[in-house]
Amino acid sequence: MKHLLSRANAGVLAQLAWSNVLLGFDFDGTLSPIVARPERAHMRERTSKLLARVCRLYPCVIISGRSQPDVSARLRGAGVRHVMGNHGLEPGFGLPDFEHEVSRAKPILQRALARWPGVDLEDKRYSLAIHYRRSRQKQKVRAAIAAAVAALPVRMRVVPGKLVVNLVPARAPNKADALLHLRAKEKADTALYVGDDVTDEDVFKLDQPGRLLSVRVGKSSASAAAWFLKDQREIDRLLATLVKLREERRP
Ligand SMILES: [Mg+2]
Repeated sequence: MKHLLSRANAGVLAQLAWSNVLLGFDFDGTLSPIVARPERAHMRERTSKLLARVCRLYPCVIISGRSQPDVSARLRGAGVRHVMGNHGLEPGFGLPDFEHEVSRAKPILQRALARWPGVDLEDKRYSLAIHYRRSRQKQKVRAAIAAAVAALPVRMRVVPGKLVVNLVPARAPNKADALLHLRAKEKADTALYVGDDVTDEDVFKLDQPGRLLSVRVGKSSASAAAWFLKDQREIDRLLATLVKLREERRP
């Protein structure tokens, strides 16, 4: 894993800015800092302004675990080309089926997890998120969640995150499917994708040198991403660099 913004690697972004590239970003922990209460997550003023400038220079997409309306409202009119929610499945095919599966699983999980304080079940219409950030017995809660999920009558994909367990209908597309679809739709030759969490690893694992530049927020030996940003604050430097590189290119 290499640091994308190190001086030695400056040529990588320069080359990308010259290419027919699609830029993809996760939202929480990538464009916005992680906060204790996910409903309060928002971009810094500077990030928001830089993103709007980047969107005028490049086709940009957001692929978030939030529902599409939720994440769209947090982009403050940046001018993003496509916003995909629910880990890449929304909008897309099969939504009524996914909604049905989620509505079957939800009451069962609610009953199974009712006795654990600090556990919040978030209904994102096409997927569920079980937040346990407020729990004081995190290890036991994780085991209780795993048991409850195993007992479900519908098959759900379990995607662990930062103090959250995401449950996505088993047949639903993931973030990698979404990014490949959007790259083709935008007729882009290559894509840059930045994310920070387990659900972003589906994109990182695509491993398409020359066609995908995968960037993780935070260095991690467990990640399949080829590149990293040191922390969430560095997203501003990345956006500013992308702006500068394309503006310099203009006549
Ligand atoms: Mg994230």
